[in-house]
Amino acid sequence: MPHHDSSERPYEDEGLAALSREQLREIQLTRLKKQVRYNYENSIFYRRKFDAAGLEPGDINTWDDFTKIPFMDKNEHRAAQDESLDRFGHPYGILACAPREKIVRLSATSGTTGVPTLYTLTKNDIRVLNKLHARKYRRIGLQPGDVVIVAFALSMFAGGVPCVDALWDYGLCVAPVGAEARTRRLLEFAALTKPTVLFCTPSLAEHLAEQCEQTLGKPARELGIRYLLCAGEPGAGIPEFKRRVEEMYGARMYDMLGSVQTLHAISCGSAEYRGMHFLSEDYCILELLDPETGQKLDFADGVTGEYVFTYLDWEGTPFLRYRMGDIMQVFTEPCPCGWPEMRLKLLGRTDDMLIVKGINIYPSAIKNILERFAPRVTGAFRIVLDRPGHQITPPLRLKVEHGEGLEEHQLAELKKEIEQYMSETARVRPEITFIPPFTLDRSEHKTRYIEIETNN
Ligand SMILES: [Zn+2]
Repeated sequence: MPHHDSSERPYEDEGLAALSREQLREIQLTRLKKQVRYNYENSIFYRRKFDAAGLEPGDINTWDDFTKIPFMDKNEHRAAQDESLDRFGHPYGILACAPREKIVRLSATSGTTGVPTLYTLTKNDIRVLNKLHARKYRRIGLQPGDVVIVAFALSMFAGGVPCVDALWDYGLCVAPVGAEARTRRLLEFAALTKPTVLFCTPSLAEHLAEQCEQTLGKPARELGIRYLLCAGEPGAGIPEFKRRVEEMYGARMYDMLGSVQTLHAISCGSAEYRGMHFLSEDYCILELLDPETGQKLDFADGVTGEYVFTYLDWEGTPFLRYRMGDIMQVFTEPCPCGWPEMRLKLLGRTDDMLIVKGINIYPSAIKNILERFAPRVTGAFRIVLDRPGHQITPPLRLKVEHGEGLEEHQLAELKKEIEQYMSETARVRPEITFIPPFTLDRSEHKTRYIEIETNN
């Protein structure tokens, strides 16, 4: 386990919020120049990329120079792993910058398809990672004495073991029960360990609350949980959903982000959700691209694009201008809560984007709309496609769970209302088929909203 010196207590503020925009950019640029040189000198992959672009580390001195650094993506990442396995008999010789004996942790992305892509971390990287996690916990007021039940899958993915390590490091009491334990065990452990904080996907938080009475003979409110820390799916960003689940527990729900190592953000208590406050800008350069043209977009309030990240002060696999294929919206106007950072809202993967007659729509937007109709719907739904792909021949077919105790004529009315509302707000008219409440699988990892259904 990493140890902090007494001068660096993870639950104490680092005073970052007091930095001006210019000071922050200066820190980034200084760290960037160092990082570029380090990558060039220590990684076959980066040396090759720089050579191919006719660049040397000394060429990168300004923000304009920065944009000359070539992008990388998951396919290149995977190809580097393959080449490394062939040449060196292990997966990181091409891409990783640190020597094997300094790599002490392997992490992976929860990619839905293909071979996982590995992240290699040194002790330095774990120290930085834990510090960045700590900023989120400190910001919302978690303190030693808080008990956290971790109900993400206890895997090598960001929300799993790495997250448990960061919570321990921060000084909290952690019950790493894990999503694998499933609903009954999770609730039994919650009753036994008296957590004040629940870490899980938003849909699992909802599911546990719904099952609590039946499993433990008391409502979720009586568990004593005060913080719901959610990630992995849209949750706290959907006002009706947030209100409903907060009400069930008598707790506050927060969205957080920490999935690509140095990109960390958490939502605030502001009544109107305006994204998660970006707390790790000194370790992560973020850029936005137009997902269709690949053109770089300027940051302005409400701008949406595919995000690109660059790690700073990192040793293992310090990625430069990595395109993951995720779409986010940024908010640069001051947040009513008073916290100074710009905010980020995840909209989905470019892979999840559906196009209906030229209109883009994400599963998260559909969830958002359906939540307005609760409790007449449960909020659970699936998008039904005939075949995989983004382009949908209308209508957009949705399977939606209706609420308890609705009559036939009420369902017909509800169907009309939702279809009308969605066509007005999202400019896509769906075709809804209702299914009984609680018939869809409540995933304990990550909900898949898309279902492929062939007719033959
Ligand atoms: Zn705020």
